[in-house]
Amino acid sequence: MTSERSPLLARGLMQGDMHATSVATAVGNSRSGFSTAAAGDCLPTADRTVSAYFRVTHFLIAKTIFCKHQPTTPRKGNLQMSKKIPHRIYLTEDQMPTQWYNLRADMKELPDPMLNPATGKPATVKDLYPVFCTELAKQEMDNTTRYIDIPEEVLEFYKMFRPSPLIRAYNLEKALGTPAKIYYKFEGNNTSGSHKLNSAVAQAYYAKEQGLTSLTTETGAGQWGTALAEACCYYNIPLTVYMVKCSYEQKPFRRAIIETFDGKIIPSPSNTTNAGRAILAENPDTSGSLGCAISEAVEKAVTTEGCKYVLGSVLNQVLLHQSIIGLEAKIAMDSIGEYPDVVIGCAGGGSNLGGLIAPYMQDKLTGKANPRLVAVEPASCPSLTRGRYAYDFCDTGKITPLAKMYTLGCDFMPSANHAGGLRYHGMSPILSKLYHDGYMEAVAVEQTKVFEAATFFAKHETILPAPESAHAIRGAIDEALKCKETGEAKTILFGLTGTGYFDMMAYDAFLNGNMNDYIPTDEELEKAFEKLPKIPGIQE
Ligand SMILES: *Cc1c(COP(=O)(O)O)cnc(C)c1O
Repeated sequence: MTSERSPLLARGLMQGDMHATSVATAVGNSRSGFSTAAAGDCLPTADRTVSAYFRVTHFLIAKTIFCKHQPTTPRKGNLQMSKKIPHRIYLTEDQMPTQWYNLRADMKELPDPMLNPATGKPATVKDLYPVFCTELAKQEMDNTTRYIDIPEEVLEFYKMFRPSPLIRAYNLEKALGTPAKIYYKFEGNNTSGSHKLNSAVAQAYYAKEQGLTSLTTETGAGQWGTALAEACCYYNIPLTVYMVKCSYEQKPFRRAIIETFDGKIIPSPSNTTNAGRAILAENPDTSGSLGCAISEAVEKAVTTEGCKYVLGSVLNQVLLHQSIIGLEAKIAMDSIGEYPDVVIGCAGGGSNLGGLIAPYMQDKLTGKANPRLVAVEPASCPSLTRGRYAYDFCDTGKITPLAKMYTLGCDFMPSANHAGGLRYHGMSPILSKLYHDGYMEAVAVEQTKVFEAATFFAKHETILPAPESAHAIRGAIDEALKCKETGEAKTILFGLTGTGYFDMMAYDAFLNGNMNDYIPTDEELEKAFEKLPKIPGIQE
């Protein structure tokens, strides 16, 4: 089976299958006068000149640093070093960043404020206290502090699985026959198998500091539940995870890991909350949904003394914690005199992408450089490429504050898709705003094309990627193939967010030809848009 398939796939990929991702390509709207004509080159002309100037300056600075060691040939602001760049670049513990970077501090225009759904007025930090830990609620609302110290205890935990490696994909480059240089930041080196531990550790730590006695959350695919269980176990905080019932039944090993770390799992909907009981009364055989699990977890938190709710993506605080990915990547890239022409990440709620691009977005916002920053999302759940920029609830249960974001409508039900971590109706408000203002691009890719890229990558780089991560791989491969056509040796950096060991059913479906690509019709999207909340004077 596999040997029949490989040459086919290899041909598909190597013949410059550039239309693989052509389902939809978009650049954020040009409200702020940015040109949308040239995807990626979204700064106005004056800024482009400035950015060219900084590119040259950047090169000169890098050159002074690196020429001490070896002669270099400049290439588009990057250094081609005669000394071979190693396959893996690991920072030392001392080189690890000690502060998170808050992108909002450098944004020209801030995201629109969160709204209290009851009043339609901007939510205050106090509105968040019943649900979130105090410190995390403050981080959520902090638009001005550029750098925030990572607490010592969090750094100590980080050191058990960080710094994460920056890897040069020499073998992938060779297999593609591309002149491009491909790098990836690998976040799968921990038991949760994803970047989610970066924020789970921080959130559990602040809960402990506040003296909370328990936490609740929901999990769909299981990565967030695992990461949070690891973190809560370390800080000794009891955790209840509401796990979508169909995942609970389909992923017994995810369950076993969460229980290994002492997490208590309740299949959702359950009899432990009013929300769950109401849904069960109406539909006793339901297989559950993420929205319902969120409603149960939030209800449990607000009705239990000393208990708060935590969330693993979308929120500003989560993007803040995930900035460690980009900060480390930048230090590692700088250390070899490299600067990416394009940075690519998969996008579910936007946390890994927001973290990876953070320092490069900073360069873009401050005019130091102008790399392209690209989100890759599933064609089955295309919030950036086909969604509306509107106020919407963050959950299907409609109990959270309203956020202005690219959304498919909180009632949108994505088709069953094997990248569970990307099946979210909305997108981080920070990334939504940056995309809207033309600082980012987005592409949507079909699931079978994603798994072609995943298996191709696994064969050449030996890491079995998570289906979510494979969206970024698809994006990077397509960029590299474009370079093959044009002969440009671009530098590509992408985020490899996790490993796919718990997704073997999905790989199995792909290998046996049982995977299909479902793309929602305009009518289906329109139906969900019609249900977007109406807010007098703001969104009629
Ligand atoms: C959850 C998850 C994602 C998507 O979440 P973001 O918040 O968009 O980063 C991507 N990759 C993996 C492996 C995940 O577990």
